[in-house]
Amino acid sequence: MVGPPMPAQTLHGKPIAAKVRAEVASGVAQFRDAFGRAPGLDVILVGDDPASQVYVRNKEKAALEVGMRGRAHRLSATATEAEVRSRIDELNADDEVDGFLVQLPLPAGLPETALLDAVLPSKDVDGLHPLNAGLLALGRAKLVSATPRGVMRLLAETGTDLVGKRAVIIGRSNIVGKPLAQLLLGAHATVTIGHSRTRDLAGICREADVLVAAVGRPGLVRGDWIKPGAVVIDIGTTRNDAGKLTGDVVFDEACEHAAWITPVPGGVGPMTIACLLENTLLAARERLATGKARR
Ligand code: NAP
Repeated sequence: MVGPPMPAQTLHGKPIAAKVRAEVASGVAQFRDAFGRAPGLDVILVGDDPASQVYVRNKEKAALEVGMRGRAHRLSATATEAEVRSRIDELNADDEVDGFLVQLPLPAGLPETALLDAVLPSKDVDGLHPLNAGLLALGRAKLVSATPRGVMRLLAETGTDLVGKRAVIIGRSNIVGKPLAQLLLGAHATVTIGHSRTRDLAGICREADVLVAAVGRPGLVRGDWIKPGAVVIDIGTTRNDAGKLTGDVVFDEACEHAAWITPVPGGVGPMTIACLLENTLLAARERLATGKARR
């Protein structure tokens, strides 16, 4: 007999992110004891985009909280390519900087690709350098963007066996959709990526055992797009006029169909910062192990 649908369990990111941060904090303490300095995470922020300012402040604070050295470099909105490039070169050369990132989006007019390519791959904690993206695609990942890593950790916490499952990701950005597709493929899921030109997106989503929305369009994913019992990960974050963060999935509708669903806020967001810290610790250890950093 088929019973009434069970409401989804909410997959909260905060407690899982707290676990990751505690693991990182203990790794940072061991690193400091062994090498006499803390790993360091730096962030370059160009311009005064209000959302980016909040993200950068949060990253700086989160680094300090796990015992790392966290430092933001704020450049004016009128900074030239040469000025941003020169700050990147400084951080590339600074032995106490284990990982850094250029906060996106950059002000219009700055060449994003050229600047991201200038980040030393061993310090590229956003995983956006072609070398890191290529290693991931070859199944030899080193530094992988934090949000997809956070999603994989969330999925692991649900106990979902990904082998042979249908995973659908909506969104094909270099920082979220594409690296997540590689990680899911590596976990033996059968992966489909949807985007703005995809035909019958709803039909494709209805086949997903794992459905990930990474678009930035509130209300895009309706309840009837979700296969009964699916795990739904909502990465989208859009701030509405009242300043409230909203995901891509209609949460209440999705709860009627999914087995698990992440809330927005409080789902993927906390995992992103925790995994960025984890990436910095990984980068620090790897740089010392390969002789790229001084003790
Ligand atoms: P992005 O670079 O703007 O990519 C958005 C993707 O969505 C693109 O691939 C685009 O397709 C696709 N898309 C747009 N409209 C669509 C539609 N109507 N139907 C299907 N696909 C559509 O964004 P992103 O950097 O990947 O970020 C995605 C969302 O996640 C944003 O809301 C962002 O704020 C959020 N985010 C959250 C976190 C977190 O920690 N919570 C971290 C990163 C990002 P095309 O490629 O065809 O244009």
